[in-house]
Formats: sequence, structure tokens, C-alpha cells
Amino acid sequence: MRNREPNGITRRGFLGSATVLFGAAGIPAANLLSTTSQPEATIAESMPMPGKIALEEHFVIPETLNASYGAAGSPEFRMQLEDIAAKRIAAMDRGGIDVCVLSLVGPGIQGIPDTAEAIRVARRANDHLAEQIAKSPKRFRGFAALPLQDPTEAAKELTRCVRELRFCGTLVNGFSQVKDQDSEAFYDLPPYRDFWATVQELDVPFYLHPRSPLPKKQPAYDGHACLTGSIWGFTAEALVHALRLMGGGLFDEYPTLRMILGHLGEGLPANLWRIDNRIARTLAARPKAKLPISHYLRENFYITTSGNFRTQTLTEVMLELGAERILYSVDYPFEDTGIAADWFDHAAISDAERMKIGRTNSAQLFRIQIRTCGADTLIRQSRSDVRSYSHT
Ligand code: ZN
Repeated sequence: MRNREPNGITRRGFLGSATVLFGAAGIPAANLLSTTSQPEATIAESMPMPGKIALEEHFVIPETLNASYGAAGSPEFRMQLEDIAAKRIAAMDRGGIDVCVLSLVGPGIQGIPDTAEAIRVARRANDHLAEQIAKSPKRFRGFAALPLQDPTEAAKELTRCVRELRFCGTLVNGFSQVKDQDSEAFYDLPPYRDFWATVQELDVPFYLHPRSPLPKKQPAYDGHACLTGSIWGFTAEALVHALRLMGGGLFDEYPTLRMILGHLGEGLPANLWRIDNRIARTLAARPKAKLPISHYLRENFYITTSGNFRTQTLTEVMLELGAERILYSVDYPFEDTGIAADWFDHAAISDAERMKIGRTNSAQLFRIQIRTCGADTLIRQSRSDVRSYSHT
């Protein structure tokens, strides 16, 4: 497994093709791979690289379970969603994850059209999460769930979560339904401008997580209902929402906002050149934004590896945004921490890049204190004696 990517490409084979790919990009292909002199055959196969920080890791509360994407899961799966204790910590250990930043599973608060109820449940979810984090503060951090049905209340709740509960930011599950089930509120709209001012002032990241399209939009999927969820509908919704925020000029008005997209960028990096090119060559309607979409993606966005464990896609995002903009994530419990680690720990990137993506980028972004430990030390440690790494 160590020398073979999930798609059947070997590390040696990747290096050969990467020499062409990255040579053209001015990046020595040798930099992509570990320079350790330790023979690969002596490296422990079963030990995950320790010390990872993971960001798209979900939990649920009883109030949102039945309407959540976890509702159709087995009793075991539901238990995994609910647990913020020993079983989750054991799963984190299997994947070498030191700290998880937890978030309410989708659609969560965004799927509650009654504004008063959305405000109440958001507070309940955030208070519950804070209580669980307090029991294991070195392993868990929190993203706020926000009632964006009311931008003013959402700004208040985010402020409470950051200043009082010490949360790291917010994860929002796409557009919000407001007042009726068929409504969609996207956050580029004018009523949300003051909310964004608060996010920028608090200086915390906003994770735009996908959700499925509403039934009124699903005729496009007629006869293919399975495509509306995480197979494709998630990607389409999140990508359009991100483009609305960028194209609507949000980042011209609030240039220091920091956004996060999951799933290796929801397909946006792969389409970046074409989007910029078509905007530049279009004489009719253009976005309000002053600069190319690629500018905002590179300046205002981070991309996580959640649920997309594919080295070709990862390297494409690295070429477009740089390793400094990529953050490790799993999407637990929808994805397996061990499978994610098996891919990431052995993906054909350099150990320095692995360290940035796996840990240091997130530590800096979320101001999570990490041990003073060089990348080489930590990675060697992961391959020799993972048990020496202490979470205490
Ligand atoms: Zn997710």
C-alpha cells in the first residue's frame, strides 16, 4: 500500500510523470518526495503520521439528527456522530489526528426555516459542543453553528462562540432556508454584509460546507436522486455559492476574510483558468468583483482534503494555491480516519509539504499550540515510534 496510490500509480511512477508536470511549473520533482535516507522497506507500514489537525469532522445533537445527513446511517454510524469522547478519540488515534475541530453535521441549522427555532438550536448545539470540548480540551476544538436565517443573530452567536466559548471560527452548511422550506438565502446578498463585517473583525475562518439542493431544483436530477447528495449535488451547490461570494465583490469589501472549502476545493481549482478566461472574454454580464476569481481563491480561501483522498487532485490544488493553503481533514464519520491517513501519509508529496498540510497550516490559522518540533523530527517519529507521541 505504501508504494502504490489508490488509483494504481506507484510513487516511482508518479515521480516520473511529476518530473514532467512539476518541471514545467518550475518545481523540482525531487522536492515532491521525502529526502529521508531511511530505506523505505524499514519504515513502519502501520503507524500513521501523528500530530495531524483535522477540520471537517462532524457531530450531531438529538434536535438535528433526524433531519441530518446522518439520519439514514446505521445505529453504529449514528453513535459515531453523537460520540465526542472515547470512541472518537480512538478513531482519531488510528489516523494520527491530534486535534479535531468539530462541527454540526449538515444541513444542521441551515435546514431549520423557523428563525426562532434556528437560533435556539444553534445555541444548544454550540453549548453542547463547548461542554464536550471542556472534557478533552487538548483533542477537540469547535466550529460554531450559526442561525444565518437572521444575519444579526448569527453575528451575535459567532461573537459569543469565539469570545466566550473559545471556538475557532464557524462551519456553515451552505445556504439557509428562511421562513419556508422552499427558500434559499445565499450569503453574498446585501442583508449579510454586516455579518461579514463581524466575521472579519473577529478574525476567524468561515468554512463553507456543502448541502444538497432543495427539491425545487432537483428536476435536473430527475431519475438520478442519488446524485443530489455527496456524489455530486454537494459539490455543485458549494461551488456556486463560493463563486457567488467571490463574484459578488465580498472580498473587495472585506479583503481579510478567510474562507475554507472542503473536498479539495469542490472542483474549483480545476476550473480556475477557464472561469477567469471566460469572464475576461465575456462582453455581456460580468461579476461585480474587481479582480479575477483566481485572485480571491488564492488570497481568501483555504482548501481541505476532506473526503477526497486523491493525490492527482491534491497536487493540482498545490499547483494552483500552494501547499500553504491546504489543510488536512477527513470528514469523519462519513469517511474513515485510517483510510485517510493511509492515503495522506504515503501520498507522493514531500514530507515538508505533508507537515504543512497535515498540521502546521492549521495550527497557524486556528492558533492551536503545537509542540516545538521540526517537520523531519515529527515525520521520522511517525515512522519509528508513534507511541512516544503524547497528547497530554
Ligand atoms: Zn462534511
